[in-house]
Amino acid sequence: MEIAFIGLGNMGAPMAANLLKAGHALTVFDLDANAVAAALLAGATSAGSPREAAARADLVITMLPAAAHVRQVYLGEDGVLAGARPGVPMVDCSTIDPATVRTVAEAAASQDSPFADAPVSGGTGGAQAGTLTFMVGADQPLFERIRPVLLAMGRNVVPCGAPGTGQVAKICNNLLLGISMMGVSEAMALGAALGIDPAVLAGIINTSTGRCWSSDSYNPYPGVQPAAPAARGYVGGFAADLMLKDLGLATDAARQAHQPLWMGALAQQLYQSMSQQGMGRLDFSACLKLYEKQDPSA
Ligand code: NAD
Repeated sequence: MEIAFIGLGNMGAPMAANLLKAGHALTVFDLDANAVAAALLAGATSAGSPREAAARADLVITMLPAAAHVRQVYLGEDGVLAGARPGVPMVDCSTIDPATVRTVAEAAASQDSPFADAPVSGGTGGAQAGTLTFMVGADQPLFERIRPVLLAMGRNVVPCGAPGTGQVAKICNNLLLGISMMGVSEAMALGAALGIDPAVLAGIINTSTGRCWSSDSYNPYPGVQPAAPAARGYVGGFAADLMLKDLGLATDAARQAHQPLWMGALAQQLYQSMSQQGMGRLDFSACLKLYEKQDPSA
């Protein structure tokens, strides 16, 4: 299939690579020339704008940082909707608010293009391994149409309901993830301060009731897991600023629904502190650093 793929960051680049491996033809666009160059090496062709990329496509997939980028890429003057042929399906895999999904879906529908939100979980490791979970907000015919393509990038493709409901699932999952990563950091930092070997502590947690994905697959303590961002200075992975964005989506949604969000609101403030201290571009598991003793003479 001819696919336009827009947004080749930490997630989008490996997702696009898996589509190429599955035999799809990709036309890519990204503002970052280095990201485009890497995709060209992997076998994609490039376009000068989202509009140009979409013009050649039978399907459009986007993987962008936040709602403002999604609006610009779809609705902008040189955007996807300006270039796509009528009826071409569109799938946005970014994590954004459900209201923006509905706005873009309505604009796409006005030119007969069905639109799905399909945010993902599984992190950069899942994107590379092709084992992502897609949470899909789409009507049934569109879901059946895009499912085989999404399976080239993931292992689970889950229908959640109407457009926007994929984001609801994603926002709730990341609310829990943001809180659990803080909890694991707090426990690991306390254990280290009290003198236990962090690797021993992680082993105990991971065979005990405190176990969770943040402890057993993405442990924030350096050296505990060789494949986790903590083992490479928290570079790459899922930026703390993106987690901060997701917790903002959760607190906004909670306000609209008149739901309390005690733990999420506290976690949001902690990631805000990371951002303020210049750690926003590090992987979110660098929140462990909030628990490290500061040297007042430094
Ligand atoms: P990223 O910042 O690494 O990549 C975003 C890419 O979009 C960049 O290459 C950037 O140049 C490009 N971009 C920005 N504006 C653009 C525009 N107007 N036109 C074209 N390209 C543009 O982000 P990421 O980590 O890949 O995350 C992407 C989305 O996936 C986010 O919504 C994030 O919340 C979500 N997500 C990330 C992870 C993770 O582990 N990184 C996991 C699940 C979901």
